[in-house]
Amino acid sequence: MAKHQHDTSANDLWMYFQNVINWVKTVFPNYRKYMKGLPWGIYYNRHKDEHYNSDELEARVAELEMDDDVTNNKGIYAYLLTGEEKHLNIRTFNEKDKLRKYNEQEGVCAKCGNHFAYTDMDGDHILPWSKGGKTEYDNLQMLCISCNRSNL
Ligand SMILES: [Zn+2]
Repeated sequence: MAKHQHDTSANDLWMYFQNVINWVKTVFPNYRKYMKGLPWGIYYNRHKDEHYNSDELEARVAELEMDDDVTNNKGIYAYLLTGEEKHLNIRTFNEKDKLRKYNEQEGVCAKCGNHFAYTDMDGDHILPWSKGGKTEYDNLQMLCISCNRSNL
């Protein structure tokens, strides 16, 4: 009896893995090497009942791979499933550009209009990455830390 129960749970586990694999193959039919090692079991548990268009997803994967501002390709899948940008590690502005912009703004926050030290400010995308804004000088504004936080 105990042995039989063991077999059943092994079968259940095998079935579960099969379901996870089939789900991944259905949602993301194109295999990419950085799919390896991702927590697909968790993705499956959370998103198996949602409806995805695999053609659209494939187009988005290809697009995100080519996006210079996406610094974490492994996070593309979690991003597409959840919509959470944090998975992509969007490129931040470099110190040189931030300092140049800081001087251009004469240390004044682009949002609240108060003056701050450089170390109390941060670079912000004028047009957010999610709306097509790039991590480029023309899309950079310096905000004080509290305005930058409330801008998220
Ligand atoms: Zn401010």
